[in-house]
Amino acid sequence: MEDLAPKMNTPRVAVIGGGYAGMAAAVELADAGLAVTVFEAAPELGGRARRVLYRDTVLDNGLHIGIGAYRKLLSLIARTGGAGAKPAWHRSPLDWRIGSSLHLRAPRWPAPLHLLAALAGARGLSPGSRWDALRLIAGLRVRNYRIAGDPTVAAWLTRAGQGTQIIEGLWAPLCVAALNTPVDTASAQVFANVLRDSLGATREASDLLLPATDLTSLFPAPAAAHVQARGGRVLCGQRVTRIVPAAGHWSVECGRAHAAAGTNATAEVHATAEVHAVAEAHAVAGERAVAEAHAVAEAHAVAGERSVAGEPAVAEERAVAEERAVAEAHATAENRFDAVVLAVAPRALADLTSEWPALQAVHRCVSGYTYEPITSIYLQYPDTVALPHSMLGFEQGPGQWVFDRGALTGQHGLLGVVISASAAQRGSDHEALAAAVHAQLQQLLPALPPALWHKVITEKLATFACTPGLARPPTATGAPGVFLAGDHVASDYPATLEGAVRSGQLAASAVTGYLRGR
Ligand SMILES: Cc1cc2nc3c(=O)[nH]c(=O)nc-3n(C[C@H](O)[C@H](O)[C@H](O)COP(=O)(O)OP(=O)(O)OC[C@H]3O[C@@H](n4cnc5c(N)ncnc54)[C@H](O)[C@@H]3O)c2cc1C
Repeated sequence: MEDLAPKMNTPRVAVIGGGYAGMAAAVELADAGLAVTVFEAAPELGGRARRVLYRDTVLDNGLHIGIGAYRKLLSLIARTGGAGAKPAWHRSPLDWRIGSSLHLRAPRWPAPLHLLAALAGARGLSPGSRWDALRLIAGLRVRNYRIAGDPTVAAWLTRAGQGTQIIEGLWAPLCVAALNTPVDTASAQVFANVLRDSLGATREASDLLLPATDLTSLFPAPAAAHVQARGGRVLCGQRVTRIVPAAGHWSVECGRAHAAAGTNATAEVHATAEVHAVAEAHAVAGERAVAEAHAVAEAHAVAGERSVAGEPAVAEERAVAEERAVAEAHATAENRFDAVVLAVAPRALADLTSEWPALQAVHRCVSGYTYEPITSIYLQYPDTVALPHSMLGFEQGPGQWVFDRGALTGQHGLLGVVISASAAQRGSDHEALAAAVHAQLQQLLPALPPALWHKVITEKLATFACTPGLARPPTATGAPGVFLAGDHVASDYPATLEGAVRSGQLAASAVTGYLRGR
């Protein structure tokens, strides 16, 4: 079998953050033959798209959906093995059901016939609303999906003469689902980009994708196995506190975040040998240091052999000291990186860059972000409970969409309800919220028994608020060899899995370009 482990003089790259962006970068870098080390602060990979264990049940921190336009994510999942033998996603043509008031379903026809047919056959839309929708997409096409001045989605829809029914039935829920930002504050340009790559693109691009497994198993875990099989390292529970220049390289300093089992409590303790803080002077010529330490060790070993008869205790002490010298030299070499990918979320990026002179532009850019929360409410019912469709929208809140985990992941009786842009729920009592959502579900399933348990998870900083004209940092930074990845990095996309993965791939290609040019 081919030895895929990086060689001694292979350039070394640190990826900080093991979310979808970081793991996408790590896969690309490992495939390019570089020696990759991923540092992830949490005990689990996946970041804002990760599995959560509750009462022996695998949940996700938030219910996610994808669309067929997530081409890069889909191909990376296929490359890294995805969910193993099982399909990673349930894929179906666009099927938009909101209560009994709206049903839009695209047939398996080529674009734009799929959209025309979906609108023509839509239940719950007046002829005027269908015409509104067609006009909007056709107008966008003519203008190449560019919107002058980037107004809010609400202002743009009004300007485009869209009626209340199509706004409330289709555009507003689509905008909140895709941008996690309400129409009143969301960027019309980013929304237009989403329409371009979904409803305005091929039929396949508008397909709906619902994960068939938990979000860590979907990509980050197989990606980690892929990286490790190529000699890379994936270190969980390693919070990077500082990245310091070290004689033309970068040295990564860590604290270790320990999660106490079953609680959210984390305690920062100092990491030892493996990701030890490395003084600049020690980092010079790390490989040479390893070689020198080996030479010293060998010389000592010879001396030790000579002393076997007379001084065994001294020989043992020397052996321990020699081992330590070799370990320290290895630690030095292992923490010296030729390039760094910062794949942390914007708030963490603001923290990491606050005292980093070369990254002040990045720091200023991301420290001004505001965020939109997302709340997921899981309710476990007896396993005979099932929805008529695996995903359904509600006409009235608080829940917006419900997913049947029995149909999706084989977790029978488990329903997951999502509330995007959930600022209105801030501070609400979990019991009351679960009760309100249960009441909503009873409208769909009148014979619904009481839930056996429920779990409410709110991601307060789920995504940056995708507002008009938002400045997003580019991949390259002011520091040589340091690149950014993450859903916030400048792109056409809102904060999505696909945006994260694309940013990771771009960062990886920036790293390889940089290393070639050195
Ligand atoms: C509840 C919810 C629902 C969502 N729904 C959808 C959806 O339906 N469809 C969709 O496409 N997108 C959705 N998103 C958005 C999507 O999850 C994100 O865009 C994507 O996961 C971001 O990935 P990322 O790698 O850029 O960042 P993150 O996932 O935030 O990854 C950053 C990683 O860096 C780690 N980290 C931070 N600081 C440090 C440090 N100092 N040292 C080491 N590691 C560190 C973090 O622990 C984290 O793992 C949703 C998000 C949430 C929260």
